[in-house]
Amino acid sequence: MKLTRVTKKGNRSFYIEFLAMTLLPLIVCGIVMMTVCSRSVRDSMTVEAKDNLKNVALSVLAAYDHAYPGEYDAKLDGEAIRLYKGDALISEEYDMIDSIAEKSSLEISIFYYDTRLITTLRDASEERMIKSVASEKLVDEVFRNKMSKFYDNVDIGGGKYYAYYEPIISAFSGECVGMIGVAKPVDELRSNINRSVNTNLVVMVLAIAITSVFIMMFANNLVRVVKFMLDFMKKLADNKLDAKLDARVVQREDELGEMGRNLNSLQIALRRLIERDVLTGLFNRRSAEKRIDQIEESGVKYCVAIGDIDHFKKFNDTFGHECGDVVLREVAHLLNAGMNGRDGFVARWGGEEFLLVYENCDIEKARGALMEIRQALHDKDVEYNGQIHKVTMTFGAAEKEPGIAINHLIRKADDKLYEGKQGGRDRVII
Ligand code: GH3
Ligand code: MG
Ligand code: MG
Repeated sequence: MKLTRVTKKGNRSFYIEFLAMTLLPLIVCGIVMMTVCSRSVRDSMTVEAKDNLKNVALSVLAAYDHAYPGEYDAKLDGEAIRLYKGDALISEEYDMIDSIAEKSSLEISIFYYDTRLITTLRDASEERMIKSVASEKLVDEVFRNKMSKFYDNVDIGGGKYYAYYEPIISAFSGECVGMIGVAKPVDELRSNINRSVNTNLVVMVLAIAITSVFIMMFANNLVRVVKFMLDFMKKLADNKLDAKLDARVVQREDELGEMGRNLNSLQIALRRLIERDVLTGLFNRRSAEKRIDQIEESGVKYCVAIGDIDHFKKFNDTFGHECGDVVLREVAHLLNAGMNGRDGFVARWGGEEFLLVYENCDIEKARGALMEIRQALHDKDVEYNGQIHKVTMTFGAAEKEPGIAINHLIRKADDKLYEGKQGGRDRVII
């Protein structure tokens, strides 16, 4: 029986589909997470920078208040503008502000009204940028409004800065008399942010890469199992019923393993359907011929015998076909039992004829075995519908001789059977 092979449709691969199903969502999810994380790192570092600027501004204010009690005041001295706090001239006193600026890595300026009178900022010629004037916007938003303010991109002397400004309110008048400005170069903060974001990105890309490798290994493993099953099914479809499904499939404890075990059962059922006779369960004629070919190829000594139930037509006519079927099954069982412990097999050759093949056996031994079977059947009571029936069989046997073809050997056994029938039945003729 040749089963029709199911041809492959298209070129879609389960492996590619599985990878697309798993890797694509992982990569999309990774990209989204990386974007969200980068943004939140950026935001949180900016907020942190802002808080830092604010804290430094407030501590500068507090430090000056502590060190120099009194109000801020400015006096012109020729070209120079001198800033006082209380009685102390602070515009030439840089120790405190330089030390805070150095510790915090920030630039600090103290404005009197809108003019920078103390600062750690230096211009291109390394001169402190004193007497530079705050922008109109800054004056409006901080000085006039008396409100602190954070800027994330402010131009100071041509450089870009994150900057925080705190108004200085006179305790005496309640008016704004100046501002404290604390600034950090944008590039510096950005490079810190980028470093942190890049570290996160590298970790995430690594995590995605490692996960992808695991997914691909897992997919490979699954696809290999599916391929084993596919190859096995192709062999079955090609009528190679002796094919073996890889043990790694059936050992699995998941659905694929179950599919594999079901495929094995399917193979057994298929073999049974193809090789066995439905009524008796014995090998059918087709598989008997195949098996004799195999024995022939192996070159071992063997004998064949054909057994035929005596007067079976009459038996059928008298007791019915169903009763005949029961007899056939009983005979098959008995013949099979007679083969127990011997090399060889029994097959239903056709109708009420059976083929017996004895491997590694000469004709005398075969005859002995056949005599035992004949006697056993002779002595057996076959019961059907409460009635006991007696059945006998005649056997003809021949031994394989060198140069004799299989069909000749079987014909020889058949001739001996005919001889037995002619001689009165219920006998073994060799
Ligand atoms: P002989 O002793 O010469 O062999 O006589 P016979 O009647 O057994 O031989 P014959 O070839 O005339 O009859 C064989 C009978 O076997 C005919 C048929 O009805 C019966 N038979 C063949 N196959 C089956 C089957 O599957 N079931 C039943 N019940 N009978 C079958
Ligand atoms: Mg017969
Ligand atoms: Mg017959």
